[in-house]
Amino acid sequence: MNTWLSFQCLPAIVAAGLLSLTGGTSAAELRITTSFYPIYLATLNVARDIPGVAVINLTKPLTGCLHDYQLTPDDLVSLSKADIFVVNGAGMEAFLDKAVQQVPRLKVIQASTGIALLSTGGSVNPHAWVSVALHMKQVENIAAELARLDPDHADLYRKNAAAYLTKLDTLRMAMHAGLQNIKTREIITFHEAFPYFAEEFGLTIVAVIERDPGSEPNARELAQAITLVKKTGIKAIFAEPQYSAKAAETIARETGATVYRLDPVVTGPMKADAYLTIMQTNLRTLKEALGRQTPDTRRRNAKQTSTCPP
Ligand SMILES: [Zn+2]
Repeated sequence: MNTWLSFQCLPAIVAAGLLSLTGGTSAAELRITTSFYPIYLATLNVARDIPGVAVINLTKPLTGCLHDYQLTPDDLVSLSKADIFVVNGAGMEAFLDKAVQQVPRLKVIQASTGIALLSTGGSVNPHAWVSVALHMKQVENIAAELARLDPDHADLYRKNAAAYLTKLDTLRMAMHAGLQNIKTREIITFHEAFPYFAEEFGLTIVAVIERDPGSEPNARELAQAITLVKKTGIKAIFAEPQYSAKAAETIARETGATVYRLDPVVTGPMKADAYLTIMQTNLRTLKEALGRQTPDTRRRNAKQTSTCPP
């Protein structure tokens, strides 16, 4: 018996679910909508291969972070069809109150519940998913809430979450091991996306050049950044693939530093393993950028050696 024929032996309800996931989402019995990319990836893993359950991302693939995002009329139509709305929370979805007002029956899952949030620039920093350990907590939260809201599939959500958490934990350990012996731990970034990541892996963010993503620094800010890079001797500055690297390249040209791309996982392929592959690329980038012994670290090390007592 081939696979297709064996599908026909399944109960009709399961077959309908399989069809809805392979041939569109209109027949799904439970429609889970996610606010943006990292939350979509987490939810996709928790709810994958469950007949009759569809995961749909609300915002367009290239939207990136949702800072200042305004709901469009199309978004409201999508939300009106959703049963559950999974969000990052921590202030990332400023439109959330409006969404709940417009679609009062919507059940909301806040992925960042219970996470100790950091403040940067005087406000709560929502980029918790960029830390692998905190993203694991988000996956646990999403799975626990989906199991509560959809008890018929509770075991499947838990089983999927456990399998994905094992992969995330392997990634987390590989990143700790890979970043243990890098030569310098100071980084400069271009968006407030990395404080949780830096805290997890013991990096120090010396400066954030553009606090609002995509906003170009003015001439004074650019000059200040150049002075800072020269003063600190930092050799690697990290732009993000989602935004223009123009300012980063200007600073690099003036200081001799190199521009690398560090990805905060806000855009990418809509594939279940994308968080893992993007973070593995980040690990390779960081090892290359921070692993090399720079002339400054060599000088510092030599100085330290020479002042050691005989
Ligand atoms: Zn952001």
